[in-house]
Amino acid sequence: MSKEKIPFLDLRVTDEEERLELLEAVDKVLRHGRIVLGPEVEEFERRIAERVGRRFAVGVNSGSDALVVAMRALKIGRGDEVIMPALSFVASANAVAIVGGKPVFADLAADLNVDADTIASLVSPATKAIMPVHWTGRVCNMERIVAIADRHGLAVVEDASQAFDASWRGRKAGTFGAIGCFSMNSMKVFASIGEAGVMVMDDPALYEKCLELRYHGVVNKEYAVSLSQNARLHTIQAAALLVRLKRLDALIAKRREHADYYNKRLGNAVTVPTEGPDEYHVYYTYTIQSDRRDALKMHLEANGIEVKIQHPLLMPQHPLYSPDAKGMWQNADRLIKGVLCLPANEKITAQQRERVADAVLAFTGNV
Ligand SMILES: *Cc1c(COP(=O)(O)O)cnc(C)c1O
Repeated sequence: MSKEKIPFLDLRVTDEEERLELLEAVDKVLRHGRIVLGPEVEEFERRIAERVGRRFAVGVNSGSDALVVAMRALKIGRGDEVIMPALSFVASANAVAIVGGKPVFADLAADLNVDADTIASLVSPATKAIMPVHWTGRVCNMERIVAIADRHGLAVVEDASQAFDASWRGRKAGTFGAIGCFSMNSMKVFASIGEAGVMVMDDPALYEKCLELRYHGVVNKEYAVSLSQNARLHTIQAAALLVRLKRLDALIAKRREHADYYNKRLGNAVTVPTEGPDEYHVYYTYTIQSDRRDALKMHLEANGIEVKIQHPLLMPQHPLYSPDAKGMWQNADRLIKGVLCLPANEKITAQQRERVADAVLAFTGNV
């Protein structure tokens, strides 16, 4: 058996045509010289708003910045609680803590997305917002979450970092709350060649506020009116993202094809991700669940297959949050002991994914 390594991700630009287009796009920025908030940033924002289906988009330097700017725009601060799933990249909780608020952790349903019932039970007089995270590239049950928010007068900020172009009942991730936040860091499905992010919204006043907060809360180039940071999107990254946008449909189709293949081969051996008839999953990660996860991981690694556990810790279990973490995460704590992400990026070949599936089945004894 071939032991050639199968990488979880490969960030090299191997498509020669794409590589030349990226170089040309960067060269164009170098020549026009509008390095800061240049025309490519504006074009990127226009294209994103149009594609996602919202009135406005504000390009920012990262998904993390998008979340922090969203918290500032909604005036979340000291003592305010924001309910979010216990499982996410720690950037979700940090966005709330950075502005002085308190993340409150809700439990997960079996599909690894937040369990709306537990959100409802955590609403307190201090709650100001709900931050659903569309985990693995699949949209949460937004109907229930928006209903809870409306009932209690709470804002919804979607952490759609992993879910650009994912949809639920024909509505795209990022269109359900007051603000939708995306990351385009180099590991995401729609990836820059560095760090990038974007926020989307419909309300013109909120849009103006986010523009102001993107650069130190400064208006009319000189007057600082609110506390913020430098969160501007680089023109070069916007230019690269415009190049990548052209190939995004094909890239997501490839990931979905890998997922479909794995689902068919592995569905009886491990718990595979689901996709309901109303859902469109973009598979930022292809995450399986197994009650022998650690042994399976070792077996795959011994066969040259790079896999990832996203994540081994829940946010309330990090030393930063564990001393006074608030919420409930019993189900989540059980679920994360079983999660394992298989290589399913657009660059893996049919032979490679076959090797991955064969190795999983050899381990589970379902061959
Ligand atoms: C990637 C990610 C972030 C952070 O985005 P950056 O662009 O890396 O700052 C936040 N939340 C989730 C769920 C993510 O996957």
